[in-house]
Amino acid sequence: MQSDVIIRQTAIGSYKVNTYLLACAQTKKTVLIDPGGEAERIVKMVRDEGMEPVYILNTHGHADHVLANKQLQAVFSVPVCMHEADDIFFAAADIREKSEKELGLPAPAPADIRLQDGQVLEVGKLRIKVIHTPGHTPGSVCFLAAGNLFTGDTLFVGDVGRTDLTGGSLDTLINSLKEKVIVLPAETIIWPGHDYGETPTSTVGREIKENLYITDFILAD
Ligand SMILES: [Zn+2]
Ligand SMILES: [Zn+2]
Repeated sequence: MQSDVIIRQTAIGSYKVNTYLLACAQTKKTVLIDPGGEAERIVKMVRDEGMEPVYILNTHGHADHVLANKQLQAVFSVPVCMHEADDIFFAAADIREKSEKELGLPAPAPADIRLQDGQVLEVGKLRIKVIHTPGHTPGSVCFLAAGNLFTGDTLFVGDVGRTDLTGGSLDTLINSLKEKVIVLPAETIIWPGHDYGETPTSTVGREIKENLYITDFILAD
């Protein structure tokens, strides 16, 4: 139930990545999604809310989404989770070098837990489902919890993530949206990885109507 969830959205760091606290309202157990920097600010948010972190979740391995992983792990002693495809991809020396040049930031450290498509994480009474949505990177995922979809750089409000960076593919991204995202209930709330749209959040139903990547590349076929 939506009322059983607490969600806090905040833009972090020079890339303005949306970092999320997603918590079970009853137990205050929480996950930190894409902690993109400013670790002390995130720690303060967690403590002010009286939350208890249990996982750090990365929607993908791009540096701007993972920068505070290690600092937060040192404070909260929780595992860092990333899809297996990105954990493998960003471990390769040549990929790390390319990605660091592209983003101007260090490539991610290895994850503690490699996530798989369809896996469900239990966080208090909350169930968080991992949905593999490759395209922006090979191991990009969306996280689905109680009607809320955290889309990282796969889907923005009215837009999609870049596919010109190392490991990106527009065809793959479009296919992910088609098979994994637009099939979700229309009222599913979209929480994107950056606030690039007209509003900070959207819904699957609204994106199906307004997002040109969906209307032109998927529905027009
Ligand atoms: Zn990215
Ligand atoms: Zn990003």
